[in-house]
Amino acid sequence: MILMDYSWKLCTEELIAFIENSPSVFHAVDNMRRMLDKEGYVQLLEGNRWELKEGGCYYVIRNSSSLIAFRIPGRDYRGFQIMASHSDSPTFRIKENPEIETEGSYVKLNVEKYGGMLCAPWFDRPLSVAGRLVIKEENRLVTKLVSVDKDLLLIPSLAIHMNREANDGYKYNPQKDMLPLYGIDGAKGSFMKQVALAAGVEETAVIGSDLFLYSRMKGSVWGADEEFISSGKLDDLQCAYASLRGFLEAGTGESVPVYCVFDNEEVGSSTRQGAASTFLQDTLLRIQEGLGKTEGDYRRALASSFMISADNAHGVHPNYPEKACPTNRPKLNGGIVIKYSANQRYTTDGVSAALLKEILDGAGIPWQVFVNRSDLPGGSTLGNISLNQVSVKCADIGLAQLAMHSPYETAGVKDTEYLIRAAKEFFETSVLECESGIFELKKNIRYTHNQHMSAS
Ligand code: ZN
Repeated sequence: MILMDYSWKLCTEELIAFIENSPSVFHAVDNMRRMLDKEGYVQLLEGNRWELKEGGCYYVIRNSSSLIAFRIPGRDYRGFQIMASHSDSPTFRIKENPEIETEGSYVKLNVEKYGGMLCAPWFDRPLSVAGRLVIKEENRLVTKLVSVDKDLLLIPSLAIHMNREANDGYKYNPQKDMLPLYGIDGAKGSFMKQVALAAGVEETAVIGSDLFLYSRMKGSVWGADEEFISSGKLDDLQCAYASLRGFLEAGTGESVPVYCVFDNEEVGSSTRQGAASTFLQDTLLRIQEGLGKTEGDYRRALASSFMISADNAHGVHPNYPEKACPTNRPKLNGGIVIKYSANQRYTTDGVSAALLKEILDGAGIPWQVFVNRSDLPGGSTLGNISLNQVSVKCADIGLAQLAMHSPYETAGVKDTEYLIRAAKEFFETSVLECESGIFELKKNIRYTHNQHMSAS
């Protein structure tokens, strides 16, 4: 049952639960799969032939860490309304042969950085490990999610007495400073046993693994009027979750609504399942093929398509207001942040921004603008990367947050609900370029959510 209650409180609680149940990127995508299954979506395998029906609802998963879902409005659809976000967050990957014994008693784990994180907040907080294992079962190799659901690890700081300069700015060495403590006196040799036990398998059956650290800090709603949410992975699970909710709640208009979540944004997107891969293009081409349409039809559909890349944005920081652009100053709870950059790291231009503002204004959803200070390079995201494979009109958006890439980030409690509503509006709208430089937005719902449910 889809909840049509847009109360921000409920949305915030559901987001916190979603993130808590997503200790690794594989768990996040598995939770998305569950949400789609519950609504009657049919999983398609990339290795099989796709036979698609009008009114059908489908999804496809690559590497258990990227997912694309879509609905078919009819054979004569106009284009694709695509919304993309990312499933990964900066963390530490457990290396092969991870145990290191020191002083003949301590056991710590050998890890390496995944993505560009703030290091300091990873110290002195309970951590654990989650990811996937590859298990040998007779003649088959089977992947299995694993999460050690207890406080298992911690990266202890060096005492101030042993480093008097600790508060004067410190450069962290990931091979020395950031290794988590696992045990003492006899712990050596037990780490992979514990992980295997958590997955309910024998240690000897585990022949491969992708394991990552995660923070055990639970999400929290706080502030004078409970206006803030803090949690790990708000970048970008806040956008990924909210846009999926909007996708599921939307009716289907004249275009194919396409929900994408890509892995590996934090390490440049150039993987088999990243935004730079052919995953989206392969899927869109196969939608054409599955409906018996030509590649020419595909090119035409792209001309009437629109993409939103949704990745969290920097809100103005209360202690560092000078770090924000002087005239564009997004705030937490201020609504959808439209992101611009002259060098096109963000894809937004005058046309895509205007189309998006029309959609948001029409639904009464607040929006604000982010541009980097002209003397700061800022970060990158997945919109412009994805356009190399699928070249469509695109805008970059996000929700305002603080402490991006900390294991405990802060955002506004109302913004998740704004993005759910914005995504719903976006997926129900088609964008037409009637003549060169003349655009029209169309909302003409062919299938409501309930009709899709009964068609599946
Ligand atoms: Zn991000």
